[in-house]
Amino acid sequence: MSNVAEDQWSRVKGRLRSSVGEDIYSSWFARMDLEGIQQQSVHLSVPTKFLRSWIQAHYADRVLTCWQAEVPEIDRIDLTVRSAMRCAAPAKEAAAPAEARRNGDQRAAPELRATASAPVSASHDALGGSPLDPRLTFASFVVGRSNTLAQAAARQVAEGRRGDNVMFNPLYIHAGVGLGKTHLLQAVTWAGNANPDRKVLYLTAEKFMYGFVAALKTQTALAFKEALRGIDVLVIDDLQFLQGKSTQAEFCHTLNALIDAGRQVVIAADRPPADLESLDDRVRSRLAGGLVVEMGSLGEELRLGILKSRVAAARNHHASFDVPAPVLDYLAKAITHNGRDLEGAINRLLAHSKLNAQPVTLEMAEREVRDLIRPQEPKRIKIEDIQRVVARQYNVSRSDLLSSRRTANVVRPRQVAMYLAKTLTLRSLPEIGRRFGGRDHTTVLHAVRKIEALVSKDVALSDEVELLKRQLQE
Ligand code: ADP
Ligand code: MG
Repeated sequence: MSNVAEDQWSRVKGRLRSSVGEDIYSSWFARMDLEGIQQQSVHLSVPTKFLRSWIQAHYADRVLTCWQAEVPEIDRIDLTVRSAMRCAAPAKEAAAPAEARRNGDQRAAPELRATASAPVSASHDALGGSPLDPRLTFASFVVGRSNTLAQAAARQVAEGRRGDNVMFNPLYIHAGVGLGKTHLLQAVTWAGNANPDRKVLYLTAEKFMYGFVAALKTQTALAFKEALRGIDVLVIDDLQFLQGKSTQAEFCHTLNALIDAGRQVVIAADRPPADLESLDDRVRSRLAGGLVVEMGSLGEELRLGILKSRVAAARNHHASFDVPAPVLDYLAKAITHNGRDLEGAINRLLAHSKLNAQPVTLEMAEREVRDLIRPQEPKRIKIEDIQRVVARQYNVSRSDLLSSRRTANVVRPRQVAMYLAKTLTLRSLPEIGRRFGGRDHTTVLHAVRKIEALVSKDVALSDEVELLKRQLQE
């Protein structure tokens, strides 16, 4: 791929990111790759069918517009699913050269790690589980302040025996992109399956959906359900992607059946249960009824630990590879975003030092990882935080804000809080209504319009709102 095309692509991604916002971008577009540009058409790829159909249904025009803003001649986008070879577990992965230096993601420099270890366990495959990455184990998971509880709970679950009392069910882990959810869930699966009389099944929500839909089509839904119910631990990754009424109903049944039978369920998602907008209330409350743990952003110490563990792993296959301590310190300070970028950085240094037979230096590291260093992301603001800060500001209680009281001293703060929820989060009007004591979306809309109108006239209120925003964004 030419550098020009790569540059265009990274600018288009920038446009998409700012057009849809960070949350949506990372959910749907982070794994989209450029395959090529031919005259007026652009060829893009994503790793799963599900992503492709979702992007086509919801974002096709947006993607085209972003391209046209860079290259006006483009009039067509082809979106395909990357071949199974490329998104399977790394142990089976064939080299994908064009991919090597792109994104700094997990697939960087595949030719340098084709030696990865054991294949995916056979019983896991037979049940239709999603591919497992042999490197994602407890041994390689670095524990730090932000993930101590999640790791401890996951370990406990992995070490349980058939028939043991289940302590927290489901175990629900949530965190932003690249903070170690998949790593922890796969670690549970590897560790659990090391025990021969226990079956642990790891499924992405997409796989759950496709497994179920495919089973329905071939009339084997019963067999699929039976297989699911025959396992001891069900691990579901990226639950935020679960879509569709019938899949959800099925998910709900499966969840209830497993939990009632004393089987363990472990779930990861990018948000807490209350924020899974597409799920109905019963499922949400069932999900919230076990142990819900958040993994926070990776602190500098943890980032340093992850970098060291990555270097150690690389040295198993490339004994001469070495990253001096000052370079590790620099990377841990500079790459604040997530674990994927840390992994990408080490892969690049490895590729660079191998290909050019040069030792890793600080200058080289600065050059190689420049594009992984992103400006500080805006903080993700939660509706609860808005309610708390607004309540404090106006000297009312949070339950006043959620109540049906209509006295002036709560009506205005409530409207301000709804307005802030709409402008500072990506939540929809109905969702906001629900989180404000089950109000209708038209009530929320009314509040938003009201405050918008007032802010443009009333300087005092406008200052108040600015102050609240600043407090929330700090
Ligand atoms: P998520 O599923 O939350 O998006 P991943 O589990 O895929 O994130 O993690 C992204 C990368 O960061 C992976 O390479 C993973 O191994 C690494 N990583 C994240 N947290 C840790 C940790 N605590 N210890 C070791 N590696 C980690
Ligand atoms: Mg993940």
